[in-house]
Amino acid sequence: MNIVWLRRDLRLDDQPALAATAGRGTVVPVFVHAPEEEGEWAPGAAAQDWLGRSLAALADELTKRGSRLILRRGPSAKSLIELARESGAGAVFWNRLPEPAAAARDAAVEAELRAVGIEVQTFQAALLHEPDEPRTGQGGPYRVFTPYWRALERMGGPDEPLAEPAALPAPKRWPRSLKLGELGLKKRDGVDEHWQPGEAGARSRLAAFLEDALADYAEGRERPDRDGTSRLSPHLHWGEISARRLWHEVRRREDLSPRPGLTQGAEAYLRQLAWREFAHHLLAAYPATPTEPLRAQFARLEWQDDPGALAAWRAGRTGFPLVDAGMRQLAATGWMHNRVRMVAASLLVKDLLVPWTEGARWFWETLVDADLANNTLGWQWVAGCGADAAPFFRIFNPVLQGRKFDPAGDYVRRWLPELAGLTARWIHAPWEAPAAELTRAGVRLGENYPKPLVDRRAAQRRALAAYQRMKE
Ligand code: FAD
Repeated sequence: MNIVWLRRDLRLDDQPALAATAGRGTVVPVFVHAPEEEGEWAPGAAAQDWLGRSLAALADELTKRGSRLILRRGPSAKSLIELARESGAGAVFWNRLPEPAAAARDAAVEAELRAVGIEVQTFQAALLHEPDEPRTGQGGPYRVFTPYWRALERMGGPDEPLAEPAALPAPKRWPRSLKLGELGLKKRDGVDEHWQPGEAGARSRLAAFLEDALADYAEGRERPDRDGTSRLSPHLHWGEISARRLWHEVRRREDLSPRPGLTQGAEAYLRQLAWREFAHHLLAAYPATPTEPLRAQFARLEWQDDPGALAAWRAGRTGFPLVDAGMRQLAATGWMHNRVRMVAASLLVKDLLVPWTEGARWFWETLVDADLANNTLGWQWVAGCGADAAPFFRIFNPVLQGRKFDPAGDYVRRWLPELAGLTARWIHAPWEAPAAELTRAGVRLGENYPKPLVDRRAAQRRALAAYQRMKE
């Protein structure tokens, strides 16, 4: 009898822990809800909603195969030991979590299980490779993406994904389980409407992406007004599809194409997957970075304590349409396009001089794909304080970014209906529009849509001065 402890690997395909139980008797899959063990990085509201739906989807799939998903509450070690005693299991299998704090928790759980004679086997399943691979010539972690990417390429592709187990032998008597509702996971509007959490949802997203968007991904990925990206991030975060499977599906599709060789779209996509790897590589090497800048001097930057600005940013009421559209997309769907994440983050951190950690926390609470490694990398990249980050003095201009990447204004129109009547010429800078144009479009600045929260020129001067003082 074996227990498989599921966490952020909520799938049956390419599931090393589950696959390893083959030929070893019956299998009891369990999810232990233990947010207190995750401390300040326990899933936020949007992620909790996703998790609840993903667990329900996995339970359905297991039931279809004559198995079940057992739900328990933490502490994890105590719960697993109890479950092993109740079910007579002698071994617990799990896939390792790459984040340092989670890995430390798992090491403690492993020691407790072994101490009472329970066998433990663990596997790498979240990433393409182990988070501390590859190493530089000096044996350290990489801090710059391009050499890291080249080193990844030199390592060759990841292992082939594993097939779903042919059978999941069930115990004669199932141990007791909590009901999903008893875990107390938060609900949030929008998740159900815009997403299909679970393995089947991940597979259909992937199929649609390969068919409709991969070929054009190198350019399409920059356009928030198009469906140009895979939107697999929450599925990847919860392990509903493995990065390995994704990698091989993209490669296989390329091999089948009439012109073999990696197309620009596929190359660009694999690169983005490598950014996810890089984020984990950095977090493994610098575990304090979710709250502390990798470049220590940034701890001295004179941030502003500006609750009003932070509240306006969160609510999507800064008066900069691309940013506000992104923040409304986030509120409505739990996801925001990458280009807009960068622009919205830049406005908060540089124009408003609000600490990047405040933005990262808000994203953590509201993103369905909230991921400690990717979120930390994203925010430190924008703030200029991370590895291979955008220089602090390079400040995104939300108007130019809007005109370039949402040229017809469709993205803004979709998420800010109050601006929908404006033409492409004015939609990214309504304060520059002639009064007659605003009247025609029904826009009353300061009433149904805010005036810009800051004068960007003055704000940039302030940001650069703060940066200069920090350097001195
Ligand atoms: P695609 O373009 O289809 O990319 C495929 C996959 O590659 C993604 O699902 C993701 O896993 C990975 N990926 C793509 N871009 C990046 C990137 N820049 N960094 C790391 N991995 C990447 N991503 C998260 O998954 N969780 C977060 O909490 C998160 N927070 C972010 C915060 C900021 C400020 C910024 C600028 C970026 C953040 N990202 C985060 C990265 C990126 O925005 C999302 O991964 C991407 O938008 C997800 O959409 P997609 O699945 O359609 O991406």
